[in-house]
Amino acid sequence: MSIYKQSIYRPPAFRNVVLWACVVCILTMAGCRHRPAEPTPGIDSPEQTWVRVLLFGNLRECTVASISGFEVQDANSGIVADFRSDEPFAVRFSEGMLFVGEHRIGCDVVMRPHEPHVFEIDDVPYRGYLQLRVDENGQGFVAVNHVPLESYLFGVIGAEMQSYWEPEALKAQAISSRTYCLYIKDRFGRNRTWDMTRSESTQMYGGLKAENATIRQIVTDTSGQILTCPNTEGREVIFPTFYSSSCGGHTEAAENIFGGEQIASLRGVECRYCADVAKRSHYYWKPVKMTMQQISERLLKRYPTLEKLEAITGFEVTKLGRKSRIVRVKLIGKNGKTDTIRGEDFRLSIDPTGRKIRSAIFGIEKKGNIVTFQNGLGFGHGVGLCQCGAQGMGRKGKTYEEILDYYFLGSKRVTIETSIEP
Ligand SMILES: [Zn+2]
Repeated sequence: MSIYKQSIYRPPAFRNVVLWACVVCILTMAGCRHRPAEPTPGIDSPEQTWVRVLLFGNLRECTVASISGFEVQDANSGIVADFRSDEPFAVRFSEGMLFVGEHRIGCDVVMRPHEPHVFEIDDVPYRGYLQLRVDENGQGFVAVNHVPLESYLFGVIGAEMQSYWEPEALKAQAISSRTYCLYIKDRFGRNRTWDMTRSESTQMYGGLKAENATIRQIVTDTSGQILTCPNTEGREVIFPTFYSSSCGGHTEAAENIFGGEQIASLRGVECRYCADVAKRSHYYWKPVKMTMQQISERLLKRYPTLEKLEAITGFEVTKLGRKSRIVRVKLIGKNGKTDTIRGEDFRLSIDPTGRKIRSAIFGIEKKGNIVTFQNGLGFGHGVGLCQCGAQGMGRKGKTYEEILDYYFLGSKRVTIETSIEP
């Protein structure tokens, strides 16, 4: 639900009209520039499913542009102005407000570019609308991209997979990403002012730069298709269709990685498809050495409650999942106290990038103070769709239906009208 749709138009005060008129004049005097773009589908549909993507948080300044100019609305006052320039202009934060030049434009502003509905922020183009809003602590502002669901997926699929991959693998990704987005939007978006980020913390989103004609066709061909599976009461529901780069030979049960209840279609399956597709150094990752002090510091930094152990002087694996993936780790404190942590959380605490210790499938060698994580397999958390596995299945002639049935065992494909709120 977009904020600007809820705002109530109120007649502007005369002073505000003058200020806005000045802003329009300044921007209209600027020069011209053009960037061709395909139209943005669904943007004029009033019942469209919108996705709110957090592009930036904690901003103090940004540069905004649109090839077609903007309609700009102050969400609080309802005042609308037309910015006709296609030149970039700076928006800056000062004294709890947003400014263009010397002109205050409000603390919650929605910029709607005209056809083809594309804007740029700090030179990166996105479809849809841009909302700039002073953040909750009043120390800066956030940039949120409001974009119709199918147009959002144009910017996701090419960021999550290579666009030259098998069309059936790309379709499986599109349906997984669509379902995942709707799940996150419903589960978490209700309680915050955005639904998705543009990073791996939800799913990658590259805006217009991640698109091409192939990707747009793949999204259009699967339009509205999502997955459901039975919940604990047996009712078919949208579920978090997780995916990761390469599973290392077996996907993992969701509860072993993320906690929570079992999810019927995320139990883990053997995967013989990813080893031949994944980049060799990504799949068979190099040993990683760390001192016990480094491990202790990083765990305590991520989980301050572990300070009750003083320092962590040792650890033991207490539960293994599929393909010997590390599921539980017991941490032993200097004072003799212990605690346990999920294996995936252990991995991402001691390697927050996840790009050295690439998965929780590894062996451990301890020599004195040095711990070596070795014989690692796969890249990512390993739950749900194995992206390299999907490509491997696509190469073997499997359809996207077969790929999704394989990795999301027992799931159902349904088609929803994405122009209607789910
Ligand atoms: Zn796999």
